[in-house]
Amino acid sequence: MTKSNGENPQARSRVRQIRDGLQSRSLKAVQRVESVTKDDVKGFFRRNAFVIFTVAAVIIGIAALDSRASGKMGMRAVVYYMTTTVIAVFIGIVMVLIIHPGKGSKDEFKNQQKIEQVSPADAFLDLIRNMFPPNIVQACTQQFKTQYGKRVVHVKMTVNDTLFVLNGTQGQHIMREEVIPIPGQVNGVNALGLVVFSICFGLIIGSMKEQGKPLKDFFVCLNEAIMRLVAIIMWYAPIGILFLIAGKIVEMDDITETGGQLGMYTITVIIGLSIHAFLVLPTLYFVITRKNPFVFICGLLQALITALGTSSSSATLPITFKCLEENIGIDKRVTRFVLPVGATINMDGTALYEAIAALFIAQVNNMDMNFGQILTISITATAASIGAAGIPQAGLVTMVIVLTSVGLPTDDITLIIAVDWFLDRLRTTTNVLGDSIGTGIVEYLSRHELQSKDAEMGNSVVEE
Ligand code: ASP
Repeated sequence: MTKSNGENPQARSRVRQIRDGLQSRSLKAVQRVESVTKDDVKGFFRRNAFVIFTVAAVIIGIAALDSRASGKMGMRAVVYYMTTTVIAVFIGIVMVLIIHPGKGSKDEFKNQQKIEQVSPADAFLDLIRNMFPPNIVQACTQQFKTQYGKRVVHVKMTVNDTLFVLNGTQGQHIMREEVIPIPGQVNGVNALGLVVFSICFGLIIGSMKEQGKPLKDFFVCLNEAIMRLVAIIMWYAPIGILFLIAGKIVEMDDITETGGQLGMYTITVIIGLSIHAFLVLPTLYFVITRKNPFVFICGLLQALITALGTSSSSATLPITFKCLEENIGIDKRVTRFVLPVGATINMDGTALYEAIAALFIAQVNNMDMNFGQILTISITATAASIGAAGIPQAGLVTMVIVLTSVGLPTDDITLIIAVDWFLDRLRTTTNVLGDSIGTGIVEYLSRHELQSKDAEMGNSVVEE
């Protein structure tokens, strides 16, 4: 049939038609990617809102606490973050070992690119460096130059007729002409550095008592202004989200080619996330607080839907605040402290997905993982989820850390790209739920400190 294409004018014109059709489809896909990348609203959320919001929210959150309460509260939050992340990774590993989504022929997927390996030590050191930016203003606007990123990565890969370009220095990837951050970064913004700086700054302002009040009032006002701006923009969000999802569904028609393995992988991630979100987290909340977790989740619906739509826990943050403070009535001193930190470092959904994806890639390649390797995957998946920024598909980038740690081919990340746009939404929703339930638990456990702080303030007002 292919042979006759050369002689038969009808067949030739049919081939041309198909080729033109493919070209115009690719063009549309590229235009769609461009419009998404250049979209001002998205840019606003990912950079400006995040910077101002993170800095203002964390500073006022910390400044509102005395160092004793923030110390204990901080400890509780960290214990919660770590415990739930480890549980999530465990669920992911059990699911992928039981369901075994990657079984089948190894040659089913064709990878056409080569990617350089990022050593876990380098990635970890970059993470530490990100925590302490040399210039805080630069951290808000510029890409962090990694000292260890000497190896240059240039990758071109084709997935479902769409060309993806991944290049840049190690740990500083550019994908579809869009900067995908290195651990702790949000589109060139050093998020982790900003969080660490804001925590220190907030502690200092808090300790200055009356003297620090003007500065504190300034950040409270800044925070309020950005909240109002975000509320206006959120009215337009559903329109954009609708078209984004519709565009992706149109692009997904070639997915059948990648066979049942990818389908089974998707199902495994969905089951794992559901167990964590609907069983583990609510049970934990109930056991600790003795309150109905589903009433709590109902109050969060707006934030969960936003997470599903934006694939970004950072972009969802203003709505999460609103739901927890206004719908559920969580103390602002707790939300302002626990949530921004949680949105950056507590990602149960991402950790669970990273563990499943790594073991899935091992299964696809017929590589048996021993106990030590599975343990390594658990640890690096936890670290990679802490390092992933709260933006769309950040987990896909930090996956490299997990894969390299056990010698799995990082090339195979392309296998899961096709379904990642969808799974990202689900894991982001789980991330937001995890942060929120954590906030509820920390508030409950800190109730005595908060009450005595209220009483102290009441007394000082009476004395005055
Ligand atoms: N999109 C996720 C989030 O914002 C991060 C990830 O890619 O896993 O929470």
